Amino acid sequence: MCGIIGYIGKQNAAPILIEGLKRLEYRGYDSAGLAIVSQVGGKNGSSIVAVKSVGRVANLENKVSEQLEGVVGIAHTRWATHGKPCDRNSHPHSDCNGKIWLAHNGIIENYQELKDILIRKKHVFKSETDSEVIAHLIEEFGKKYDFKKSVLESLKLLRGTYGLAIIHRDEPNKMIVARLGSPLVIGVGSNENVIASDVSAIIRHTDQVVYLEDGEVAVITPDNYEVFSVKNRAVSKEVTKLDWSIEKAQKHGFDHFMLKEIFEQPETIQNATRGRLVVPEGRAKLGGLRHVADQLRGIEKIVIVSCGTSYYAGLVGEYMLEEYAGIPVEVEYASEFRYRKPILNDKVAVLAISQSGETADTLAAIREAKEKGALTLGIVNTVGSTIARETDAGTYNHAGPEIGVASTKAFTSQLSVFVLLTLMLGRQRGMSFVMGQRIATEMAKIPKQIEKMLKTSKDIKKIAKKYLKYQNFLYMGRKYNYPIALEGSLKIKEIAYVHAEGYPSGEMKHGPIALIDKNFPSIFVTPKDSVYEKNLSGMQEIKARGGKIIAIATEGDKAIQKIADDVIYIPKTLEMLTPLLSVIPLQLLAYYVGVGRGYDVDKPRNLAKSVTVE
Ligand code: GLU
Repeated sequence: MCGIIGYIGKQNAAPILIEGLKRLEYRGYDSAGLAIVSQVGGKNGSSIVAVKSVGRVANLENKVSEQLEGVVGIAHTRWATHGKPCDRNSHPHSDCNGKIWLAHNGIIENYQELKDILIRKKHVFKSETDSEVIAHLIEEFGKKYDFKKSVLESLKLLRGTYGLAIIHRDEPNKMIVARLGSPLVIGVGSNENVIASDVSAIIRHTDQVVYLEDGEVAVITPDNYEVFSVKNRAVSKEVTKLDWSIEKAQKHGFDHFMLKEIFEQPETIQNATRGRLVVPEGRAKLGGLRHVADQLRGIEKIVIVSCGTSYYAGLVGEYMLEEYAGIPVEVEYASEFRYRKPILNDKVAVLAISQSGETADTLAAIREAKEKGALTLGIVNTVGSTIARETDAGTYNHAGPEIGVASTKAFTSQLSVFVLLTLMLGRQRGMSFVMGQRIATEMAKIPKQIEKMLKTSKDIKKIAKKYLKYQNFLYMGRKYNYPIALEGSLKIKEIAYVHAEGYPSGEMKHGPIALIDKNFPSIFVTPKDSVYEKNLSGMQEIKARGGKIIAIATEGDKAIQKIADDVIYIPKTLEMLTPLLSVIPLQLLAYYVGVGRGYDVDKPRNLAKSVTVE
């Protein structure tokens, strides 16, 4: 999620690190910091100086004095997951004595357990982050081992994900980096090496890179790098030559941030569920709701307030929560809710969904709900944002920064949080262990299923090409996939400027079917679920009127090929989880139609990423 850069060589590190951070700022922009070994010398001759600042890299740059000299350093631009964005929580983090400093990208799931143990051993923590625990662990092992062995022993205890860059005052000519689930690249220079979380920060220095794989650790000096497994076995690595521009590198080789973010979804869904989905026990743990767990048991209704794509996530959430947790749910546009006279009391929970955590209407709705005595909850992507701060409790969706204006990965991570919430509340309210386990087991498969689907994106590109010239589309789905029809139609409106109507397919006969002719294609989201047959009848009716049909169907459904002009298949899963899969082809379809029509899909006209005005 965040950006890391490290330098070890002969040049002054600070300006190189700042420049690299600017390249990485798209990965996180809550706060930034760097740590520099100020004089490389004997054991007692060096010290490490850190400078940190909340906000953009430019703020850090203003704080870094020209006197800060040193040829070894690490830096970080943060996208907070644990602890609000502030100077104190900014990376790099250190051990008790400021000897060991590290920049971390990812989430340490078991940080609380480790922190408790370390506190008992008298370690003093300075931040609320999960990351700081790693510095203290290395310090603890340092009582027995050297730098490298202390790092390796520490890594063995970590659960979760990390990209790490670590420096040590007593071994000042060395940097150790490690990777598990968060990228890390070594840029190999002459008498200098640059490490970073992605190549966009390296390209300026060298085009020779070594990609670390999960479970690998590298010890880096100015003129060498050695790669090991966590078990300390040497690994030989190939050097790759880069031929990307900086811009392309920031997009990881994709043409647009939107496409990159669509392809990130297997990872972001895993991040949303990491450490929270307890498959063997068929339940979910949501740490951010722990302190209101008792209150939640007594809640008689949930009102979801949100806007845009988040509103559609809320509609899917409504189906899940009502069917599996047995709680009455209402979903409201935040912009309407704030001006109505909603009936609220302390038995109602008002749940706000917002990617940015700053959406003006949603914030106003939450304030209104608080005023009326309701319990307020949030599903928010941005740690420390206003909605996250002002709600009584909530859950972060950990999708990382979303740059594309049209939301994709934030949506599926919101859906993932709804699955967790349904499991948590459902199990409190009579959902059986067996049902809990079924949902959890199938949910755990979703990232791999999306990965598989994304491999066929070329087929969707071909379909998009066929439909480039159409000005109107009807998107239809029923039950869990009705909100997906709405989301699919919103995506194509947003980035391809095509008129599209989303409808529950059962409503088709009550009006929209009048629009259908050969120039008005329909998209049916129709996996093999409890409303499949109903959808088929609807499709027949469209076909009978000469309308073209693209169907999103379940793998193995051959019958549908006879009705639809084009079929895009999704893997089998539980009915309640189908939206997580069926939305993917619709995101891709909108993307390819937008690009095919020649638009800049990352910056659609008239739209802003986060709507902070009414
Ligand atoms: N979990 C760490 C934190 O909240 C790292 C987040 C990141 O990847 O930026 O500080």
